[in-house]
Amino acid sequence: MIAIVALISLRCSTEQDDVSTSASQQYEDLRSAAPEIYGYLECQGFDLAGAKLYDEYVVVEGVAIRRDLISKNIEAAEQSPTNGRTDQYVVSLTPTGVVDFSNVTNIKYYIHSSIANLTGDWEGAIHDALDDWENISNCRVSFVETTSISSADIRFFNDAATGVSTSYMPVCARNIPGDSHMAAYPSNGEPGSWVSINNHWNTSSQGNRETIIRHEVGHTLGLRHDNSSSEGAVTSCGVNIGLSVKLTGTPTVESSSVMDNSVFTSTTVRNFTSNDKKAATFLYPEGQSAVVINTLTQYYKTSSSKDIKFTMTSPSVRMYRYHVERLPPWSSTPVQTSEYVTTSNTFWMYNVPHGTWRFRINGLNYGEDVTTPGIMKTVTVQ
Ligand SMILES: [Zn+2]
Repeated sequence: MIAIVALISLRCSTEQDDVSTSASQQYEDLRSAAPEIYGYLECQGFDLAGAKLYDEYVVVEGVAIRRDLISKNIEAAEQSPTNGRTDQYVVSLTPTGVVDFSNVTNIKYYIHSSIANLTGDWEGAIHDALDDWENISNCRVSFVETTSISSADIRFFNDAATGVSTSYMPVCARNIPGDSHMAAYPSNGEPGSWVSINNHWNTSSQGNRETIIRHEVGHTLGLRHDNSSSEGAVTSCGVNIGLSVKLTGTPTVESSSVMDNSVFTSTTVRNFTSNDKKAATFLYPEGQSAVVINTLTQYYKTSSSKDIKFTMTSPSVRMYRYHVERLPPWSSTPVQTSEYVTTSNTFWMYNVPHGTWRFRINGLNYGEDVTTPGIMKTVTVQ
């Protein structure tokens, strides 16, 4: 069992302008400091130019990853070399990489006083960007501001903030080299606990500031970059570090996404694309209507069983995946589940024994912690 623990993301920084001597002194070259991790990431297809070891984090392609997590993935890959994942959009091997469905309403956020020292109205940008997240249709995410740093779920800092406990603002969130910003990925079903805005980022427009906050908050909710596959992970070695999973039905790359790296250029202004919104509702859906089995066709399999083909009515807002369950008439406990379907409206359930059964179609979110049960259909298979 591999647990995702405190993943950190930051923007690729091509300009290492060394804003903090004390911080940069803690960076070590990854190849020399941890050759086994370097070799593993190289095998995964990561671009290792400038890869660094930074305390307990490996910083590669603008993402900081817990070193112990990579080690666990190396162990897992050795034990199960085919257990790979493709790599876009969502941070996860399991739903631990996204926020629990029960934790995405009234996410408490805290704006540290150091934000006021940044150039421009970042506090306004935070408020506007969080409003934009809340206004995604059919998405459950909502926020409420708190003045209590200890009770907050997400904390916004100026990376030059001083006097803040490292339990709220880890060392790697401070004095970020170059022109990056950083955010934490979800951990243990909670949103990433901090966003750090680079004090040296002072040329952006207000629209760009809002875009950056939309992007960083996306990380705190579990989204990786739209072009995560090109950032590494799908591998010539047949294994994968497993840090993210492409959401089926979204494109491999969408450069207009708020989750694209290019939002960090000083002029970029981005709103959520239809695929950003799709990703948000795949993870945290709200207001999904029950789906209906439209047709059901029995095909002879054996003298005592049939294969059954189902189609569903096309839902107006699609859940991440659907399946059909078979239940006895007298029980609410399913005895069989069909294949999962992510993009089509057609399902198969194989080797269904003769008898009278109830079939139910369910829509599920990505984390599978919310289900939209569809309408039961009672059918005699014979
Ligand atoms: Zn990012």
